[in-house]
Amino acid sequence: MADDIPFNKSHDLMPGQIDEVMPGVRRVLCNNPGPFTFKGTVSYIVGRGQVAIIDPGPDDAAHIKALLDAVRGETVTHIFVTHTHRDHSPAVPAIKAATGAQVLAEGPHRPSRALHVGEAPRLDASNDTAFRPDRALADGEVVSGSGWTIEAVTTPGHTANHMAYALKEADVLFSGDHVMAWSTPVVAPPDGSMGDYMASLDKLKRRSETVYFPGHGPQVTNAPRFVSYYLLHRRAREQSILNRLGKGESDIPTLVAAIYAGLDPRLVKAAGLSVLAHLEDLVARGAVASDRPTSIEGRYRLTG
Ligand SMILES: [Zn+2]
Repeated sequence: MADDIPFNKSHDLMPGQIDEVMPGVRRVLCNNPGPFTFKGTVSYIVGRGQVAIIDPGPDDAAHIKALLDAVRGETVTHIFVTHTHRDHSPAVPAIKAATGAQVLAEGPHRPSRALHVGEAPRLDASNDTAFRPDRALADGEVVSGSGWTIEAVTTPGHTANHMAYALKEADVLFSGDHVMAWSTPVVAPPDGSMGDYMASLDKLKRRSETVYFPGHGPQVTNAPRFVSYYLLHRRAREQSILNRLGKGESDIPTLVAAIYAGLDPRLVKAAGLSVLAHLEDLVARGAVASDRPTSIEGRYRLTG
């Protein structure tokens, strides 16, 4: 199903190794591989001497030490966070305590929509609900450091508070989990929103950056074209869902089994949430009706 996207899964970075991925940008891989994190979380260090860290990563002692070792003799002035999943932000308190840096992000964790009665955030264990930035950034806000300028780019969808960061001097974008070269991200309601996610992709496609540095895996090259593939992929999945609904299939487990043939069993739950994300978007657009507030247990049908 995802064969339509030209993924790049080559990633020979070793955990803890400091890699200068381009002049003025270093990256350090955390040893937290998994079905959602690929080889692990990639933290970035921007600048020299007085630097910013983007996404300190999970609360992982070895990774925190590797990051602090990487900036030894330098001053960390800023910590930017792309979003509040546990593989991106829980190392913030330790890095802040060690460096005194200011923490910047869109805001605390929150769901993309109001919860239905009785509904719990389904992937709650993956959320860093304790996170609070020192400074909340608005879309387009520009932060200047020593030799670098970063523009905040709101990119809701994967989470409501997802923010990408454009490094103006190099015309590259730190894309977090919004756009990654190795895979598409999970978009799971109520934390994620497919409508927001697609709008954020459209927004990035119109920007100038051609290279993205994501939170997992290698860099994205030809970025606007890659984003177009992402959009086509999601629209194709939406069409598959509409086709299945048109045949009378109505529940999410049946749709997942039909659409995601050969899926890694560890990803079945996430696939169900992804289908739910599409259905919520289709219900919001009036193309699909649901027998109750949109949920995994719901039954869906075409309105047309
Ligand atoms: Zn994430």
